[in-house]
Amino acid sequence: MSAESQHILPKDIFQTIFEKSPGSLLIKADMPRFTILAASDSYLEFTDTTRDAILGRGFSEVFPDNGNVDEQIKAHNVFVRVVNTGKKIDIPRYRYDIFNQQSKCYEEHHWSCSNVPIKGDNGEIAYILNTVVDITAEVKAKETALENEKRLNLALEATGLATWELSLIDNTFTYSAGMAEIFGLNPDTPLTIDMLRSQVTEEDMRNIILPSYQQALISGEYLYEVKVVWPDKSQHWIKIQGTIIYDEHNNHETMLGTILDITESKRDEIRKNDFIAMASHELKTPLTSIKAYIQLLAKKLDNNNDEFVANALTKAGNQVNKMANLIYGFLDLSRLESGKLQIKMQDFDINKLLAENIAEAQLINNNHTIIFNAAGEIMVHADRERIGQVINNFLSNAIKYSPKDSTVTITTKRFDDEIEVSVSDTGVGIKPKDQEKLFQRFYRVDSDEINNITGFGIGLYLASEIIQRHKGKIWVNSEENKGSTFSFSLPIG
Ligand code: ADP
Repeated sequence: MSAESQHILPKDIFQTIFEKSPGSLLIKADMPRFTILAASDSYLEFTDTTRDAILGRGFSEVFPDNGNVDEQIKAHNVFVRVVNTGKKIDIPRYRYDIFNQQSKCYEEHHWSCSNVPIKGDNGEIAYILNTVVDITAEVKAKETALENEKRLNLALEATGLATWELSLIDNTFTYSAGMAEIFGLNPDTPLTIDMLRSQVTEEDMRNIILPSYQQALISGEYLYEVKVVWPDKSQHWIKIQGTIIYDEHNNHETMLGTILDITESKRDEIRKNDFIAMASHELKTPLTSIKAYIQLLAKKLDNNNDEFVANALTKAGNQVNKMANLIYGFLDLSRLESGKLQIKMQDFDINKLLAENIAEAQLINNNHTIIFNAAGEIMVHADRERIGQVINNFLSNAIKYSPKDSTVTITTKRFDDEIEVSVSDTGVGIKPKDQEKLFQRFYRVDSDEINNITGFGIGLYLASEIIQRHKGKIWVNSEENKGSTFSFSLPIG
């Protein structure tokens, strides 16, 4: 046996290899018949047929073209082009339904095929190797994905939401339909991230967007509300929400999220705020004069020892103070919401401020014992009046939400870089699910014990905003029916 002939495989081995190869058909280039010469097992399986049924027959006779298939990709035309050009032709996707012998009906199938010309001994194209892959599952998955996208787009349209995606690598910005309208632009306007940013005021860019972006790079979550100015100069509000997607090395890759036009609800909020501001402002004047009259009467009373009148005046004075606190709370709330709550920083001893607040609380309320655990002087740089307000809120809540004759404990601690103030009571306590929401505006715990205690749920909201403006932290530890400890910390140095 020659060396060469040792490397030649017997013919029937080729036959077996062909028959085991994926989805292949060998077709003779005998235009226009295109006789089927060989078929692989999987081809027969795909098309639910047998070798006997197709070998030696013309391709179109066995697999007649679907009526609605584009002329360009009809099998017969493709084979003709392969023979005429001598070039391989791929058809990436086409539909050809298969007759299922068992169910006796046609089943929807999608395919991808390749048609390779093979030359005969004389150099002419003698055969075509037709290889097919059943891509029905992929096509169906894609159709479902498209359908879902369509549904999502309809939902987005109905809710006035748009979605966006920003590459953190090259700043590529993609977005859904509806984005341009949210910015008051023609729906077809091509948008860039810089274009949209230019519609935000410089102040909001500096105070809201950049800090939120920096924060998102750390936490992975993006959420803020901001004002945008439309080309017609009208003002609108949007809410942006997003998440950061990381690559396999945990580097930031993309930021994606939604954008919602909240102009209507924002305008309602502004109207409500204006109303609160106006009403509280109007109430302030008569209240101040009632307070002055009560003080005047109390002075007059000094000469005349009527115990009942003295008692009634003290009570009236306390009620007026309560009402004044409420009204100042509302005024602060409206200032806060319109961005006008000012923080005036100064250096002061927080223990001295606490001592003053405790003395005041004890004057109004002598049913509770107040213990103050603090030594010496702790200097902080903060707004004395606003921090006093936070302490008052903690103290008055501790008194309000704990039984008569119980003890309220105030503790201050100094660490290297911050100070911490805590107010503990042994009162009704707070369930964990409520603890998370206490610092939200108007949040009050819904329970029988609390429903008959007056309040509007703005004190802790204001306190948390004040502490945030000092770059401090505010939190609560509490157990139902055991008591609560409200704390805040302020950075020092
Ligand atoms: P207000 O007391 O005027 O309702 P706050 O914002 O000060 O408003 O408090 C919000 C809610 O938090 C209260 O309604 C109450 O349910 C709960 N809360 C606050 N402090 C305490 C406390 N020390 N113990 C129990 N619940 C408290």
